[in-house]
Amino acid sequence: MDIEALIPSATRRARARCVAIGDVLVGGASVPVIGGPCAVEPDYVAHALAAAAAGASILRGCVHKPRTQPEAFQGMGRAGLELLDEAREATGLPILAEPLEVDHVAELTPHVDVLMIGARSMHNAPLLRAAARSGLPVVVKRGMSATVDEWLGAAGYVLHEGNDRVVLCERGIRTFETATRNTLDLSAIPVLRERTDLPVIVDPSHAAGRAAWVPSLAMAAVAGGADGLLIECHPSSADALCDAAQAITPRTLAEIVVACELLAAVARPAAADTVEECRAAIDGVDSALALLLERRATVVAHIERIKVSEGVPIRDHRREADVAARVARLAPQLGRSGATAVMSAVIDACLSKALAHV
Ligand code: PEP
Ligand code: MN
Repeated sequence: MDIEALIPSATRRARARCVAIGDVLVGGASVPVIGGPCAVEPDYVAHALAAAAAGASILRGCVHKPRTQPEAFQGMGRAGLELLDEAREATGLPILAEPLEVDHVAELTPHVDVLMIGARSMHNAPLLRAAARSGLPVVVKRGMSATVDEWLGAAGYVLHEGNDRVVLCERGIRTFETATRNTLDLSAIPVLRERTDLPVIVDPSHAAGRAAWVPSLAMAAVAGGADGLLIECHPSSADALCDAAQAITPRTLAEIVVACELLAAVARPAAADTVEECRAAIDGVDSALALLLERRATVVAHIERIKVSEGVPIRDHRREADVAARVARLAPQLGRSGATAVMSAVIDACLSKALAHV
């Protein structure tokens, strides 16, 4: 079975250029998750550590917040900058922040690793140019009413300044639908694949507007070929000073990070030009195999308990032969003998774990 044939070409990331944010590659073999609270708050270092422990590769570190209402918390501003330094030191992770005005670019640049142009600022050409000239990579979010062409035009302002480290971020657009905060436009991914080689990440948080809906939008985005995710996460979301309703817990973030590894391994092209690229692809497949083996061991532990309670023999050699035959059909390159060898090792490993529990 050629699993790649089942994956629409638009979902393959082969044509995306790689943009390095610190030492994290966006558009490469893995699907990095940018996580953290919507806004930097006084407890930011603890929030950053929680996001890092959950597997985030890059931290959100927004000290300036573009709020709809002037009475709302506008971010810690300059007072938050030293928290960014502390979080970078404590986690070793790169940090993303949003400048709202041209002067913020120089202020943020020493403290962060990537600048984000927010949805409300996508049409602000002077801000796009200033962000480009910082020398940092720039994430350009889609304006809430922007067409794909207008969005690419905004990215073009950064590229025209000679900064080719641009990442596009779909965050939902405004439609007639009001059930969600915005309507996540995943069709933008295949459309952009035809128009640009820039990597595309997806922000399910500002699209959903509600924490419970974030995981499924995140997974749909990765299945659809997103090169990364931008997700709001807060250890005590009810207390978040900004966008509390859409903040997921670190535990949910950790589940999304693991699920991303699984999906990314399947969507990644099997053919690569260099040993390093091939090894990255192999590592991805091995991660997926490990997660599936862990799941298999759990199911086996369960069936063994049932067998013991019903007095059914633990081993069933006919069933084991059927398992090997099915795997041989699905993995013809292994051949019948290869499939039998692999599955008998897998069965033995899962069984000994199960027997330790009965
Ligand atoms: C954000 O990500 O912090 C944000 C304000 O989102 P958006 O610009 O997409 O509304
Ligand atoms: Mn937010």
